Amino acid sequence: MYFTVPRDLRYESVPRPVPGRNEVLVRVKSVSICGSDLSGYRGGNPMRVPPLIMGHEFSGEIAECGEGADKFKPKDRVGVITNLYCGTCSNCRQGLQNVCENRFIIGTTMKAGSYNGAMAEYVLAPAEKIVPLPDHVSFNEAAPGGASVDSPAGDKARGEYEGKERRRFRCGTHRVNSP
Ligand SMILES: [Zn+2]
Ligand SMILES: [Zn+2]
Repeated sequence: MYFTVPRDLRYESVPRPVPGRNEVLVRVKSVSICGSDLSGYRGGNPMRVPPLIMGHEFSGEIAECGEGADKFKPKDRVGVITNLYCGTCSNCRQGLQNVCENRFIIGTTMKAGSYNGAMAEYVLAPAEKIVPLPDHVSFNEAAPGGASVDSPAGDKARGEYEGKERRRFRCGTHRVNSP
């Protein structure tokens, strides 16, 4: 589902993505609509610049494995951690990968660029971001999990990170803040 201009989401046929080295192709089974997707849809959200396929909270099955991603096999049930941080910038080196300066987030637009998300039949993801799902966790239950971060993202964004403990748990449809 393509976000083409504000307030216009439309079904379009797009080529099936091909996983590159250390990537997997996930066949999406469940995707949540985050509050940030709604504000993106309305327009003016710098993290949703069209053209873009949104969807950063999802789960699914492995459809195809790229070279080097052979830890997984087709039909494996998986969740995906959607924060694709660089690991080398100063925030990453301080353990603040959630505010990496160079990161992509699946289904969003960041400074580094846009990355098509899971409001689609298939989505690409780095193999290292794949989390196998236990059988007792349904696709719907798992979908919001990948975007959750046990980290001080909110505090850092508001410039009030110093002195705070890492007790904030965030995900799209729910947010629980501890003092
Ligand atoms: Zn980084
Ligand atoms: Zn979200």
